[in-house]
Amino acid sequence: MLVAEGLTKSYGRRRALDGFDLSVAPGEIVGLIGHNGAGKTTFVETVTGLVRPDAGRIRIGPYDALRAGRDARRLLGVAPQELALYGGVTVRENLRLFAGLTGLRGRRRDVEIARVLEELRLTDLAGRPVGVLSGGQRRRVQAATAMVGSPPLLLLDEPTAGADPETRSALLSAVKARAEAGAAVVYTTHYLPELVDLDATLALARAGRVIARGTQEELTRRLPGELRVTFADPAEPELRTPTTDPGADLAALLATGRTPASVDVRRPSLDDLYRSLGTAVPEKPEAPDAVA
Ligand code: ATP
Repeated sequence: MLVAEGLTKSYGRRRALDGFDLSVAPGEIVGLIGHNGAGKTTFVETVTGLVRPDAGRIRIGPYDALRAGRDARRLLGVAPQELALYGGVTVRENLRLFAGLTGLRGRRRDVEIARVLEELRLTDLAGRPVGVLSGGQRRRVQAATAMVGSPPLLLLDEPTAGADPETRSALLSAVKARAEAGAAVVYTTHYLPELVDLDATLALARAGRVIARGTQEELTRRLPGELRVTFADPAEPELRTPTTDPGADLAALLATGRTPASVDVRRPSLDDLYRSLGTAVPEKPEAPDAVA
């Protein structure tokens, strides 16, 4: 549903995207993760047409998004990181505006809005101006504006930032339901347990490119887990050692004649995967322009 290849984008001398590739299939949720400044939001902005890449290709469904942007954007629902809502009008009126952009009119539009309000637990707030809502409530409204009209591609940029558990749970359920109905979803977050809940595949971004792509199982199994052994002899301290092959490491330990009292293997987690990205790439100060 989405194929992005070789995207580059520089701001002055700073490369926000540096050969960014990402494909997302219908029904797939991709968790796009990476440190602050890795290029996630810039990628989302190039797909939405807000930012023009310096090079690369973007296909959305049958359309070349850089040539047929208007047609491509009709297939897109976006929840940007910086909320973009009309504060002076009600939740329902916001949804009417966004539904109108997808071509929905009349009774079909009203039925669709009622469905999305219900899905994101916003029905009781429908008549209130967005400007008086709390941050978490606005996040849900923003997600609703992305989902109204059931676009086949959803780009959700940190949709649960600052959300309480109830808001988070409403959003995650709605995202799962959309993917089950066939939508392709790009989901950025710094809160990794959400990606387990969503059963998302992963794309790890670093310094403007995707450096690893796959299922959670594929990406974590390359990492070491931890073998923890306590011993029958209370004088022996507990052993904790990284391992990629716990069976072989335990066999080697038993061969030394020591008697374990308990054995535990901690499997590598998404946190370990995130840590494997290393520390955030430091922002380089921009070099001053050369003086002629
Ligand atoms: P975060 O997790 O903090 O949201 P991100 O992965 O979304 O980070 P981006 O917002 O895409 O990262 O930023 C990538 C790089 O591009 C950063 O170095 C950022 O400072 C730079 N950048 C992004 N937008 C602009 C802009 N409009 N002008 C100048 N530099 C920008």
